[in-house]
Amino acid sequence: MNLSNKLLTWFQANGRDMPWRVKGRAHENPYAVWISEIMLQQTTVKTVLDYFPRWMGRFPDIQTLAAADIQDVLLQWQGLGYYTRARKLHECARVLMDKYQGKIPADRTELLKLPGIGPYTASSICCFAFNLPETVVDGNVIRVIARLYGLTHAVTKEEIYALAKPLTPKKQGADYASAIMDLGATVCTPEHPLCHLCPWAKDCQAHIKQITDKIPLISKPEKQERTGYVWLIKNHRNEYCIRKRTEKGLLSGLYEFPWRYREENPLFPIHSSADKITHTFTHFKLTLIINRIEAEIPPIPNGLFVPPAKFEKYPFSTLMGKVIHKHIYLD
Ligand code: SF4
Repeated sequence: MNLSNKLLTWFQANGRDMPWRVKGRAHENPYAVWISEIMLQQTTVKTVLDYFPRWMGRFPDIQTLAAADIQDVLLQWQGLGYYTRARKLHECARVLMDKYQGKIPADRTELLKLPGIGPYTASSICCFAFNLPETVVDGNVIRVIARLYGLTHAVTKEEIYALAKPLTPKKQGADYASAIMDLGATVCTPEHPLCHLCPWAKDCQAHIKQITDKIPLISKPEKQERTGYVWLIKNHRNEYCIRKRTEKGLLSGLYEFPWRYREENPLFPIHSSADKITHTFTHFKLTLIINRIEAEIPPIPNGLFVPPAKFEKYPFSTLMGKVIHKHIYLD
């Protein structure tokens, strides 16, 4: 039996069904596949299992999403981070309504023309929504293929794609893509892979040579660390001053407490405080030191006072959500 068939046989017995993937065929709703794939970027399956049904309840189809206000879309996305994904989903839904009769195209080249859909997402949609034989390469696939071929150097996605493509069968695109991802997620795990349960154990160079702990070698650039200050400005009614970010740039359109990087001019007095919050973005880690002050009218342009009980009506970034939970709700 060749490698693909071994994996497909293993998947029939061990694969997982997800709300956005079904065993044995394409998912009946390409919209659900698209939403899940965008959510799954930078987010764990466990978190998406929580968010996905709520999203589908609020925006059940492309038409509803396209017609929605962007503030509603951001609110629904709140907590998932990387808000550009939500903005692009909204923009893409509008393009699909305008140019594709409200349907997701079953073609990788067409998918790549859409906002927010890159090579990986296009391939995943082709597999899971249309059962096409595209090759998907995510973190799980990188680990499995690098171990299968015993690659001890720092691998690239392109290299893994070139090795994974010939293994991809011409049929059963959905099952094969699910199978290789599931193998990585449940058997070929980063630590202590369960090789005795693996359908590729007899073929796997890393297992044969007992070097699974050395593969894959990933060279990650060090994250830059930055510091700043955030001001929690409270009035006598226990309301806090928030403001909306501009429509462009990092965390655009979201609400926040006034804050500044340390190297910028401070907005208000700085108190030396041990209260702080740290958040890791894609390229840097930011620590904000909490400063508390009191005021009766908003001391910043576009500022407004809001009671904590109404925070849920405003889309906050994940970083500001952390500030709320750690420093306001527990105040
Ligand atoms: S044999 Fe072990 S290391 Fe190799 S692919 Fe399977 S689980 Fe991963």
